Amino acid sequence: MAFDSIPKDLRALRACLVCSMVKSFDQFETDGCDNCEDFLRMKNNREQVYDCTSNNFDG
Ligand SMILES: [Zn+2]
Repeated sequence: MAFDSIPKDLRALRACLVCSMVKSFDQFETDGCDNCEDFLRMKNNREQVYDCTSNNFDG
């Protein structure tokens, strides 16, 4: 089945809802958003990453 060929990294890409920066979920969780970390505080906070990013950003 072809589903296995989809890279996990691509499926995990998310966009910051504030500044639209696109990174992987892991990057948001590890580093937060480069622009918004001061007030979004996504670093090491999965729930905050889910709340403040979207995986549906490229229409
Ligand atoms: Zn941001």
